[in-house]
Amino acid sequence: MPTKKPNAEQVWKEFEDQLAPRLRLRTIDRVVYSHLVRHSRLEGKLRLRFSLTWLARGTALCTHTVREAVRRLIGHRVLRLVQRSKEGHVVEVRIPNEVRAARPRQSARRLLSRTRASDFDDLDWLRHQALRRTIHVREGGRCFYCLSRLTPATRCLDHVVPRAEFGDNSCRNLVSCCQGCNSKKKDIPATDFLRWLHRERRLTDLELAARFRSLDALTAGKLRPRVPAEWLRLRERM
Ligand SMILES: [Zn+2]
Repeated sequence: MPTKKPNAEQVWKEFEDQLAPRLRLRTIDRVVYSHLVRHSRLEGKLRLRFSLTWLARGTALCTHTVREAVRRLIGHRVLRLVQRSKEGHVVEVRIPNEVRAARPRQSARRLLSRTRASDFDDLDWLRHQALRRTIHVREGGRCFYCLSRLTPATRCLDHVVPRAEFGDNSCRNLVSCCQGCNSKKKDIPATDFLRWLHRERRLTDLELAARFRSLDALTAGKLRPRVPAEWLRLRERM
């Protein structure tokens, strides 16, 4: 996808002076990001298809290390995973002034008065028990996949896009589900797993269609858990 080439000098300065320190990027993440920007945006391409082998060779790192770096960059919304396949991954590479966290910090008062979009984007929903609980509450006590009733003893959290495929810990990628679905799904794409449940007669036609709609809403960020305001205020002081 051709796009206007940004000013390379400006990109580099904003990356060094604002983005990297604000996100506290590790040295490895800086190296990987620079390599990806070099081969995408500085070539006038918004998206880049690459393999981990190519990235590892270009940065003189091992594939495991670059995989972890790409996952973190996706988590920071510096990269957006568009597609994954056996041939490689397609990501959208964002330059510093397109990344929300790189912009000058707003006052806490103003931040709290907004819709908390950035709060949601930045959160690691696996990290705190209070946040994990809100994911379970969002699903209303039913498995996101098979709709079976859940109890605190039978429920667990599942990565819709597996961690091995750069899936992050955002509320767009975590769902509450039963242990049976969690162990059967493994690395199967969520849509394929839902179709399998349908073939197994665990979901009706209507339920399958509704599950697909919920999955779309989830990945679009429309299924937002209710986070207690007190928790967000506490986080703001951290
Ligand atoms: Zn289930």
